[in-house]
Amino acid sequence: MKAVRVHAPYDARLDDVPAPQLAAPDDVKVRVTAAGICGTDLWLYEHAPVPAGYRHPAFGETGPHVLGHELAGVVTEVGPAAAGPTIGDLVAVRPLVACGTCATCRRGDTNICEQRGFLGIHGGGGGFSEQVVVPVAQVHVLPEPFTPATGALVETLATCWHAVASVQLDPDDPVLVIGAGPIGLGVVLCLRAHGVRDVLVSAHGEARQQAARSFGAQVVDPRETDLVRWVRTTTSRAGVAVSFDCAGAPGRVVDEQVKVLRPGGHLVVVAEFHEPTAIDLASLMRAGKHLHGSSAYTPADFDAVIAAVAAGDLDPTSLVTSVVTLEDAISAGLDGLRDGARETQVKILVGQGTAS
Ligand SMILES: [Zn+2]
Ligand SMILES: [Zn+2]
Repeated sequence: MKAVRVHAPYDARLDDVPAPQLAAPDDVKVRVTAAGICGTDLWLYEHAPVPAGYRHPAFGETGPHVLGHELAGVVTEVGPAAAGPTIGDLVAVRPLVACGTCATCRRGDTNICEQRGFLGIHGGGGGFSEQVVVPVAQVHVLPEPFTPATGALVETLATCWHAVASVQLDPDDPVLVIGAGPIGLGVVLCLRAHGVRDVLVSAHGEARQQAARSFGAQVVDPRETDLVRWVRTTTSRAGVAVSFDCAGAPGRVVDEQVKVLRPGGHLVVVAEFHEPTAIDLASLMRAGKHLHGSSAYTPADFDAVIAAVAAGDLDPTSLVTSVVTLEDAISAGLDGLRDGARETQVKILVGQGTAS
């Protein structure tokens, strides 16, 4: 079957690889219908950081690995001990594999297991291919109104849901979101699903600003407006209860978020930062503000997102701004996003049979 694999920085190829086969009695086979292209995929494409010969403990395979960790598909084969999904079910694959036995996993925090690995990054196949085989515990059956395309958004939304659920929110509390890529917009959607009324968003790019507005947020372009002054004016000088950093841009904007938190407020880091950044810890301390990171999701976050979509509290459909074929995943998908499509796109899906 065809699969996109990264061999070296900027060297991604559509390779022919053996189709995966059921290996354990609780495995299921999934024909991929759609897989989202994520900032992490771009990072892997640009840096190829997994050294040749390295075996991640979660998968025990050497690279090159198939890309694509945000995926949905249709179940085509079910092992004899795989209870739950049946052939023909639309499912989202939960790509995070945790060890299940370390102290962190035993506390229930499988999202931050130190041994965790991701299908589509560290091995196990990936969504930028035709099929994957995964243990049944890694799939979540998708009800109406999910489609073969929107199922691929559950992974991103679960990351957002975990971050939003990591703080106590009052629906009347104003909340700031920095960045309106898929994670920032997903956080806005999850905040709305939690009943938060007053969402402020700082974002570049007309398409992303427009999307945030369509989700009911007040939006500012930080290149045109002073963020600190805007938040203070908009919140009648009270500040925000929470700021979610979904941009990952080191520099002034991180410290500005600490500044605009109300006393006791929370800065939640959801984005991946690749460089250190300075913040004024004195102002954090004096006003009893909190700083914490939120990474990935647990199985319960997948279930919560699926339930919210099924209940009509969360509609992620408009996050998908284009669908490319597996053959075009490298040129139109990865290279396209590098060439500035980030300003005009939110989520690009690699789609196969998404219309069915
Ligand atoms: Zn991702
Ligand atoms: Zn663990």
